[in-house]
Amino acid sequence: MSDTPFDETTLPDDFACPVDPEELHLPDLYVALEANLLAPGDGIITDRHHASADNYEADDPMNQIGGQISPFALSGWLRHGCERVLQQRDATACHPGESSASFKLEDVYERDLEAGYHEKGSCVDADRPAGCLIHDLFGGFSGRAGRLIRRPIPFSPVRSQVDITDGEAEAHYRQLATHVRSRNDEDDGTPLRAVTRDAVGNLDGAWWLTVRDLKPEYIGLLCAAISLLNDNNDAYRFQLGGARNFGAGIVDAQVLNPLYTDKEIRRVDHRRWNATSAMEEKDETWSEELRPAFIDALDARIAHDTEGA
Ligand SMILES: [Zn+2]
Repeated sequence: MSDTPFDETTLPDDFACPVDPEELHLPDLYVALEANLLAPGDGIITDRHHASADNYEADDPMNQIGGQISPFALSGWLRHGCERVLQQRDATACHPGESSASFKLEDVYERDLEAGYHEKGSCVDADRPAGCLIHDLFGGFSGRAGRLIRRPIPFSPVRSQVDITDGEAEAHYRQLATHVRSRNDEDDGTPLRAVTRDAVGNLDGAWWLTVRDLKPEYIGLLCAAISLLNDNNDAYRFQLGGARNFGAGIVDAQVLNPLYTDKEIRRVDHRRWNATSAMEEKDETWSEELRPAFIDALDARIAHDTEGA
């Protein structure tokens, strides 16, 4: 196993990568994302001034606003999926907040500890210096950085300018304006103040993740979490960003086959091109052999972490 690119420190003894690891584009992982509407709070940065609604013309280059979707909202969404994967396997996940933080609701921390979380960092000991998988992957405190690089997603409304192998997406930015209106009868719905909300519509692209240490259990956890988020994408708690009551943030998500070449990844993105037979063969290897091997590594790591804990 000495020539494996995988980090062997926590590698299960019986882990064997079913394909030559050289053929995988790990440690990069691409998550294909599609969402009709996303409103991630403060999580959008645009490269232009905002077009005025009165004289909006879609083909005016000034209105072709590009920008970036911040990784912060995406990261919380992914982390939540990862936490749930651990909890479904009867393990607890690191609480995202410090136990000493002053939460608005007094009992919230204790309540979470009873609902599948352990106190942040309590999973770290001499035998397990990286802590639980959530602590290990997303980083904790004591200056230990996470092992997962989560990039922002640059977006453009012009499809020809989008390259999903660079973790980009097609998306259409709008600033939505609305009024908060008075509910007093005598005011007859008078607008009290105007509010604006940044949103992107028709998001279609990929989120580019990289693991700093190539551990098979990281890949297993990320794959399991994305499947879970995709399968439950209309459940309030698994939607992405704000405005969830309005149906924003229902995301179709899928980890792209790490056996794909860049050319094949671009093919996935090209609506008119079907998968080649080489890609179909790779899909079979991925779903029948490779993905299950990573999931087995995930299960072995969780068993190791919960042993005697
Ligand atoms: Zn932990």
